[in-house]
Amino acid sequence: MKFSFSRLNIYKQCPYRFYNKYVLRKEEPVTQPLALGKAVHKAIEDKINGVDHEQAILNGYLESGLHDEVSYEDISTLVQKAPVHKGMGETEIYFNLPLSDEKNAPIIQGYIDVVQPNGAIIDWKTNRIPYNVLDSPQIALYSWAIGQLKNVDKVKGSYYFLRFRKDSSYLFTHKEMDAARKWALDLANEINARLDLYSMFPDKHQDIFPAQPSRLCNHCPFAIDCFRRFNPIVETTS
Ligand code: SF4
Repeated sequence: MKFSFSRLNIYKQCPYRFYNKYVLRKEEPVTQPLALGKAVHKAIEDKINGVDHEQAILNGYLESGLHDEVSYEDISTLVQKAPVHKGMGETEIYFNLPLSDEKNAPIIQGYIDVVQPNGAIIDWKTNRIPYNVLDSPQIALYSWAIGQLKNVDKVKGSYYFLRFRKDSSYLFTHKEMDAARKWALDLANEINARLDLYSMFPDKHQDIFPAQPSRLCNHCPFAIDCFRRFNPIVETTS
């Protein structure tokens, strides 16, 4: 299995959700925040690459799959808040890197929204609540990736929260970026060990990938299934 920040993060939040999504490959509904995020990312990417605003919004709208709960105006309002101009950087930079020098080391891949000429990276966020760039290892990990690709040992990484026209930035050192790589490597190794175990004992999947209830269950697409499995008494009496 190739890894991404999103895969690692879902495993970290709840192994049972990871199992449903990436092992059983159950479909997740495309929620409004997900569709809006895709649309806005596409439109911003297009604007940086020289597409005019209206056409960029239309392209973003198409990218959302014409989701029922996403409107042209929603996309346009958020995109107008992005501090972008044509040619400000390279967009959607793909990385695909081994997480260590060892043979058969886990691979991590991902896309970085913008890489500026000075090597600084930006990740656009449509969240309704902003947070600090250091609250998650995502940007440290993406900084490590761009450090590998550009051969630099310091990278400025930012989240930009569009609703608030607010960024959260940090200049990551080599040591801090390497700590993010190590975080990803340890998790990827743990997941691979559990996948090996699962291939030997598939009927033990609930012990190998345990449910980890938290406030994040409110946004989990597998919540109903999970509730039925882990609350059989309530289910049969309802
Ligand atoms: S509902 Fe909660 S416990 Fe169940 S899979 Fe989702 S995140 Fe995990």
